[in-house]
Amino acid sequence: MKDLLSHLEQKLPESLLLLEQMVTMESPSFEKRLVDEFTSFLGNRFHEIGGQVDFIAAERFGKHLRVRFPGRSGSSEGRILLLGHTDTVWPAGEIQKRPFRINGNRATGPGVFDMKAGIVLMWMALSALSELKALRGGLARSVTVLLTSDEEVGSNTSRSLIESEAGKSGAVLVLEPSLPGGALKTARKGVGRFTLKAIGRAAHAGIDPSRGINAIEEISRQVIKLQGMSGTGGTTVTVGVVQGGTRSNVVPAEAGIEVDVRVASMEEADRITKAIRSLTAELPGARLEVRGAISRPPMERTAETVRLFKIAQGVAAEIGIDLKEGSTGGASDGNLTAAMGIPTLDGLGAVGDGAHAVDEYIEIESLAHRAALLAGMIERLNCGDAPPNS
Ligand SMILES: [Zn+2]
Repeated sequence: MKDLLSHLEQKLPESLLLLEQMVTMESPSFEKRLVDEFTSFLGNRFHEIGGQVDFIAAERFGKHLRVRFPGRSGSSEGRILLLGHTDTVWPAGEIQKRPFRINGNRATGPGVFDMKAGIVLMWMALSALSELKALRGGLARSVTVLLTSDEEVGSNTSRSLIESEAGKSGAVLVLEPSLPGGALKTARKGVGRFTLKAIGRAAHAGIDPSRGINAIEEISRQVIKLQGMSGTGGTTVTVGVVQGGTRSNVVPAEAGIEVDVRVASMEEADRITKAIRSLTAELPGARLEVRGAISRPPMERTAETVRLFKIAQGVAAEIGIDLKEGSTGGASDGNLTAAMGIPTLDGLGAVGDGAHAVDEYIEIESLAHRAALLAGMIERLNCGDAPPNS
């Protein structure tokens, strides 16, 4: 592993230059033209290092990118999927306020941590394995890179693509940001969004209030019930948006809320979904409409996940890193692949902090080590007949 690491350390200036270009090319989820341009740029970078590139069109969103790196065997059995996303949560123009900067060991800029540095790590690992082919044997089986364009906004146009690629893979490595300090993510909560609408009856608040049915009162009672559902097995229920009424002198006929739900297990997903769907109106004459579901299933810490993590830990030890694991309440596309039963390891991206926040940064010194970890994982999982590692 030492030769791989020193090769990656030599590539660091070139890799940082690529990261700067990537951060400077903005890619907000809803700016199709910008995301398309960025994705074409990435396609060229992966093509230069031997990838077979194709683009998958998406309505309203930027195109998705799939790159195959063929293996010696020609068989696709047991291949690895490297998963990530091109879109960021930052609006166009953010780069003028916060241009890419290097300050000591830190690189900053919109989307640098979530997850442009993760894409750079894929590029670093795959180009290093290709450049060291004579020494290390190259890929035994194929590796696929899949970069989607709508992860930050729910993955609606990419979900079937992700599931179809994952279904052909023996393992999925997700290059989303690490936990603080570099720990990998072996469990993620599942996420659901529900909306509740209370329908009452409007009436004059002064002349005829008793004719009215106050929808705001009805929805308030539901808010109290929902907030009380948090707690069991790490499940959280958060009423995040409330709307209702027209004027202060009118008994409101309508009110609504939006609810965020996080669950750690499928069991909890089913339980909480049933509980929310069975909510009923309390005020006589009021009606309640409930919509929504758990849209991203939880990524549970299965035996297969632990097996993958142990392999990562072994590779990390060889490059002098004590790798840890942890869990998060945030979801990613790794939730989708894990729920299919495909062994999935997440948080293999850059070390840093501040995802989705203005103080987002990555640690530059970690890049070579993380790329070596990824390259080592690819070899360990995919190159059964490769020469023994040094
Ligand atoms: Zn992300």
